[in-house]
Amino acid sequence: MNARTQAAPERSGAAPRREAVIDLDAFRHNVRTLSELARPAETMLAVKADAYGHGMVPLARAALEAGASSLAVLDIPAALALREAGITAPVFAWMHDPDALFGEAAEADIDLGISAVWQLDAIAAAGASRAPRVHLKVDTGLSRNGATEEDWPGLVQAALDSERQGVVRVHAAWSHLADASPEDDAVALARLHRAVAVAEDLGARFELLHLAASSAGIRMPEARLGLVRFGIAAYGISPFDDRTGRDLGLRPVMTLRAPVVSVKRVPAGHGISYGLTYRTAAESTLALVPLGYADGIPRIAGGRSEVWINGKRHPIAGRIAMDQFVVDVGDDEVAVGDEVVVFGEGDRGEPTAEEWAGFADTIGDEIVARVGERVSRVYLGESEQER
Ligand SMILES: *Cc1c(COP(=O)(O)O)cnc(C)c1O
Repeated sequence: MNARTQAAPERSGAAPRREAVIDLDAFRHNVRTLSELARPAETMLAVKADAYGHGMVPLARAALEAGASSLAVLDIPAALALREAGITAPVFAWMHDPDALFGEAAEADIDLGISAVWQLDAIAAAGASRAPRVHLKVDTGLSRNGATEEDWPGLVQAALDSERQGVVRVHAAWSHLADASPEDDAVALARLHRAVAVAEDLGARFELLHLAASSAGIRMPEARLGLVRFGIAAYGISPFDDRTGRDLGLRPVMTLRAPVVSVKRVPAGHGISYGLTYRTAAESTLALVPLGYADGIPRIAGGRSEVWINGKRHPIAGRIAMDQFVVDVGDDEVAVGDEVVVFGEGDRGEPTAEEWAGFADTIGDEIVARVGERVSRVYLGESEQER
């Protein structure tokens, strides 16, 4: 397997080797699994937030190789970055502020999610030489962006007017689910169908409808419609509380690791880290790991989390600091330079990002997406095309 490191900004020969190893074979396996499940619906792969912390461009390429037909990024700058990387597949961006680069987006053939009439006006004002495809968004209950039921006919009418003027091409109607319960999601699906009927009465003809992300894409076949926007499941993390990624046939993609940088033997009753909230039960060996909350390790997990060193789990002792944490390895052998796995695939017994979500009272999405910029992304399983 070949590996390549994408330099972290703080690169220097002396910086500790903090690494997020990204297994592109695992990712491609997940994308293939999900896109086969969703068929005949197409798969749009969400690579927003730097591909949930995994690195946008390599993951975007791998997604397209493995069966995704389009990509979702939050905003226009991320979409343009994919174009600059040479990606020609459809790219969808849906969060815009009044200064958004609608003209550049149109020229780069970016698909735009549209939630309000002012966005159509801004596209017209940009005066681009080509009309972008727009996906009109209706709010079906999540209460983020998307037109309300009252505003929807006005948005549709404005989009049809823009289309007549050659400013946009009306392509899709879409929404996003609250993932609260299957019943809530069914109500949202009915709202989308109702909004489509309203739009059709106004003369709209949509080529595509989309609603589901990972959760409904997996458990709610009737919500798959023309396309599923898969995100977290493709990174090997379950969207459900009661099933792991492994239960769903998915493989975790990210392994977070760093070397031990200090080892010391201390007596019983020795206090550890800020506040001295942890004391050794007996004489013990302490290992220092150069990862902290500035690297995305949740501070709340201090004292209730474990890491993997030399084939065993050991507890994080005391508070997690900005740049480091201490592990109490008891009487086990550990040396400076030994590898510490914070989370990984889980098949050797190391914690997974899903377990870390439990340590930190959050979801696995947050555990991977918050991994910081000082951590180098190292890619395994790159194809020739990606190199
Ligand atoms: C993040 C996001 C997705 C992907 O969601 P997952 O739950 O990670 O699969 C899909 N659509 C929209 C609009 C999103 O913001």
